[in-house]
Amino acid sequence: MFSVSDISRYYGLAFGLRDFLRNKITLEQSKKFISTRLQNRERNFLNLIQKVIYENPESPYLKLLKNAGCEFGDIESLVNKDGIEPTLCKLLEEGVYISWEEFKGKRDVIRGGNRFHVRERDFDNPLLPDYYHVKTSGSRSAGTRTIFDLKYLWEKSYYALPMLAVNNALDAPMGLWMPGLPSMAGIVPLLRYWSLGRPIARWFSPVTESQVQASLRDRLATRFTIYSARLWGAKLVKPEYVSLAQAVKVARWMADTRKQFETCSISCFVSPAVKICQAAIENGLDIEGTHFFVGGEPLTEAKRQQIEAAGALAVPRYFTTEIDIIGCGCPGTAADDDVHFFHDSLALIEHQRKVEHTDTYVNAFHFTNLSLSAPKIMLNVESDDYGVMETRSCGCLFEQLGFVRHLHHIRSFAKLTGSGMTIIGSDFVHILEKVLPQKYGGAATDYQLLEEEDNHGQTHLNLIVSPSVGAINDSEVINTVLSELHRSVRSGKLAAGFWSQINTLQVKRIYPISSSGKVMTLHLTKQK
Ligand SMILES: [Zn+2]
Repeated sequence: MFSVSDISRYYGLAFGLRDFLRNKITLEQSKKFISTRLQNRERNFLNLIQKVIYENPESPYLKLLKNAGCEFGDIESLVNKDGIEPTLCKLLEEGVYISWEEFKGKRDVIRGGNRFHVRERDFDNPLLPDYYHVKTSGSRSAGTRTIFDLKYLWEKSYYALPMLAVNNALDAPMGLWMPGLPSMAGIVPLLRYWSLGRPIARWFSPVTESQVQASLRDRLATRFTIYSARLWGAKLVKPEYVSLAQAVKVARWMADTRKQFETCSISCFVSPAVKICQAAIENGLDIEGTHFFVGGEPLTEAKRQQIEAAGALAVPRYFTTEIDIIGCGCPGTAADDDVHFFHDSLALIEHQRKVEHTDTYVNAFHFTNLSLSAPKIMLNVESDDYGVMETRSCGCLFEQLGFVRHLHHIRSFAKLTGSGMTIIGSDFVHILEKVLPQKYGGAATDYQLLEEEDNHGQTHLNLIVSPSVGAINDSEVINTVLSELHRSVRSGKLAAGFWSQINTLQVKRIYPISSSGKVMTLHLTKQK
């Protein structure tokens, strides 16, 4: 079960942790680091292309560049003449990109007459030591391997204090309601906030290790990280299991902490944040002025309103497991999920793609990671997200640092592709989050559309209504959904296949299903 290489990995991780936890980052250092990275942006990009692509014969990107007849000197002169983004657009036109499916190793790369196979690990950074691999959890990309790299974690930590400062939360004790390994969502902030001199005060985990089917290796790695950190003098808190149904426990901790320290923050996914606020209101707990640093799922208008109904403040963050943090919101936000894009370490261009099984096109985000420490080498890698990108002024610290590009209305096209669900998906979100709670009670997180695929590939649609909503008439609820759909659906946009499925729409009275502690409004799952 455990090999010599496992032991040496742990050994490497332990000593990496020692250095990581000994150093501290200040706000001034953070500003300086970001500003230097912005100044060296072009140089960092070219350095990366040279070191991990042109000097790495195994790189899948090298095949694409050769196929496009593109030498390093060509890229260098393009970047010097036009800048990074126009260069990336030109490369994309020449076929130098990796689609979302290709990045996951699910589809061969075909460009012109050339075809080759790629595996997920072909995108691993060849310059990194092989510390520890985790699988990403949750809806984004189940099963993706990502390297737990402390140097990269450290680089990305320079955003954390500006994120707190922009949102006036520098002095607020921070709690976590995030799962442990194999998800990185808990362990990363646990280490990061220690290095900011602001250790996480409490770590609640919405799932148990057995619920997320954590392997023995993951379980050991969590304990190993916490206990070896203690050996180096860092008193990191252990995760305490608090299920999504027990949100009141987190709300109570927030209210108590607020009373003691006048302020409090929590980092969690969006739907658990809504649950905390609901629980606070229902139990008369005062969490006014506390901060919810949320992410991992869209912060919709309804969900933001439910957080604000408790007097709390919602701060959207955009992150993925492969990249870590991509952007963060500020108080001068324009849209519900508006974030400043951290372009000192990333480049982003958009490219139109067809969403499979539909007649819909979206401008998918294509990311390039400019860091030499990134676990995955990403050059024009399509993500399953799309959204609005714009340059806008809001006058906050992020803008002073140079982050003038904003992203908002960020949604995933991949989650809603089953059976022509894409368009229906976005219409359904409004019905589930607003119409049904208004008419039948409960909150946005009490309703969920569950698409289940059986072994025969048949799709079944279940409208999940939490038992906490109380007595309802099933057929009346279904009629409400159908008539709302008729009203809101744009003509001709419905895939014909969907209507036959409408007949199979059933109400199920169970608690909405969560994966890694998130309640997605639309839950797509495949039965085993
Ligand atoms: Zn701002």
